[in-house]
Amino acid sequence: MIEDFRNLRNKNGDNVKTIAVSKRSTSEEILSVYNLNHKDFGENRVQDLIVKYNKLPKDINWHMIGHLQRNKVKDIIEFIHLIHSVDSLRLLDQINKESSKKNLKTNILIQVKVSQDVGKYGFLSDELDNVFKNYLSNKYRNINILGLMGMATFTDNISQIESEFSLLSTLYNKYSKMTNLKYLSMGMSGDYLLALKYNSNMIRLGSAIFN
Ligand SMILES: *Cc1c(COP(=O)(O)O)cnc(C)c1O
Repeated sequence: MIEDFRNLRNKNGDNVKTIAVSKRSTSEEILSVYNLNHKDFGENRVQDLIVKYNKLPKDINWHMIGHLQRNKVKDIIEFIHLIHSVDSLRLLDQINKESSKKNLKTNILIQVKVSQDVGKYGFLSDELDNVFKNYLSNKYRNINILGLMGMATFTDNISQIESEFSLLSTLYNKYSKMTNLKYLSMGMSGDYLLALKYNSNMIRLGSAIFN
C-alpha cells in the first residue's frame, strides 16, 4: 500500500520521496493509487509512458526510469518530470538539444553503474568527473542535473548490496559539493531499507506498492 511509504526517512533523517513504479500495472491500477493522493509514477518504456500519459490525469509527475534511446527523447521531453536513466554523454547531448528546441529545461539524474549484473546501464564512477566538468562549464544549458540514480546487483548478498549503495552515496556527497544536487534515487522493493541506511532520498517501488 502506498500509505506505508509516505513518511519514510533515511538515516540522516531526510524525507524520502517514493516513486510508484507502474511498469507492470494498468491505468486502472495507477488511478487507484493516484486517488490516494499519490502523484509520482515511474515507467521504463517510452511507448507505455506515452499511452499512460495520454490516458491519465495531467497532474501526474511521470518519471522515466528505464534505458532511453536517443531517438525517443523528443517523444517524452515535453511532459517528462524527471529522467532518472541518463547513462551516456550522447544521451545528455540529445536531451539538451531537444530541450533547447522547445525552450525547456529538463530535469535529469545521472545513472551510475555500480551493479555487477550484465546488461545494466550507467556511467562508471570514474566517468562522472567528466560529466560534471561539462555540466559546470555550461555545456548543457537546457538540462538540470538534480542528482544520481543507481541500482544494486540482484543478489542475496547483503554486504555486496551495501557496498554498492555506500559507493553511490559517497559519489552523491562528492558531486553535491560541486553543484546543488537534490536526489539520490536508490532502492527498489527488495532493497529500499538498505538504501535508506545509505541515505537514499528517492526510492522506486513497483511490487511493494502494486501487489
Ligand atoms: C522495475 C524497476 C523498479 C521497481 O522494481 P520493484 O522490484 O518492482 O520495486 C525500480 N527501478 C527500476 C529502474 C526498475 O526498472
